[in-house]
Amino acid sequence: MAAAADTAAPLNPLGFDRAGLEAMFAAWGEKPFRARQLMQWLYQRGVHDFDAMTDMSKALRTRLAAQCRIELPEVLSEQHSSDGTVKWLLNMGASQGIETVYIPEPGRATLCISSQVGCALDCAFCATAQQGFNRNLTCAEIIGQVWLARERLAATGREITNVVFMGMGEPLANYRAVVPAARLLIDDFGFGLSRRRVTISTSGLVPQMHRLADDCNVALAVSLHAPTDDLRDALVPINRVHPVAELLDACWRYAERQASRQITFEYVMLDGVNDSPALARELVRLLAGRPAKVNLIPFNAFPGTHYRRSSEAAMLRFQDELNRRGLRTTIRRTRGGDIDAACGQLAGRVADRTRHRLGERLRVAAP
Ligand code: SAH
Repeated sequence: MAAAADTAAPLNPLGFDRAGLEAMFAAWGEKPFRARQLMQWLYQRGVHDFDAMTDMSKALRTRLAAQCRIELPEVLSEQHSSDGTVKWLLNMGASQGIETVYIPEPGRATLCISSQVGCALDCAFCATAQQGFNRNLTCAEIIGQVWLARERLAATGREITNVVFMGMGEPLANYRAVVPAARLLIDDFGFGLSRRRVTISTSGLVPQMHRLADDCNVALAVSLHAPTDDLRDALVPINRVHPVAELLDACWRYAERQASRQITFEYVMLDGVNDSPALARELVRLLAGRPAKVNLIPFNAFPGTHYRRSSEAAMLRFQDELNRRGLRTTIRRTRGGDIDAACGQLAGRVADRTRHRLGERLRVAAP
């Protein structure tokens, strides 16, 4: 990312990956290793106070304190589900809010973070889409979610083992901020998570998927939701720009560059819409023999939606069709439903700034 220039406005160090911090220090006439030192203080020791960074000279600490400020989002509310899930609403200014969710499970604990205030992609079954789009988050606002959650959870001895970009927003539509944030998550001097434990979920922005493989090769989840273009056009409007065949081609190319890694395909189970055994067989046709696993997500309702969750029987039948043909398939357990923290329920606080949501544009453009 671009070098942090000397400016009057304080710089937030959480907004720079290692290369960005190195550029900031270079502009100050300092050696690159200063970036690693600063990152260790910030991310490994959780220290905010520059004066406490005792392996830096007094002069450098003074300069950091004068020119940088660690700013974290303000927590507006913290809700606890009976299943241990925690949801935070964070203030993004101008009456906007985003949500971050912590999901503890046996053997791991996942933080689900947001990448945008709202979303422009207009997927038919998603609560965030109903809110419209306001703005992209900065890298510091994305990393700030992880910092805040970690700090609050540490008080009760809870750790974050995985981070998923599955909160509000389309991460690959905010590529400039999401890539440095993902780099900080996997950097040994940053949060130090393995690449397999950081997942970017996309509705299918093909050009950015190609770039991501080179820029930050983390795990990839793709919101497929339908095996045919007709159905996917209706559910995930970006499909009209990047249809299924093109999307899958990008997936296999991404997987190739990851040496033995799989792409996770998310498939929300909508009663009577995409849950028939015939569609399961179509899905098998697309994915069998490929480095793919399927995650079936029970649809989570939200006010105003006309979709319903598939029955338990329909979900099991669908899963069975896939399993029988050798496709690894899991059904995602719904977590945090009692606090509206489940997949697709995150609404935050978004004032739609655009009448140009993708679905609307495409509807207008359709003959
Ligand atoms: N924009 C990204 C990430 C956000 S959503 C993406 O589309 O992948 C994370 C997952 O939750 C996606 O697979 C999304 O399709 C799914 N989802 C959205 N609304 C849902 C709902 N109401 N119930 C269940 N899953 C939903």
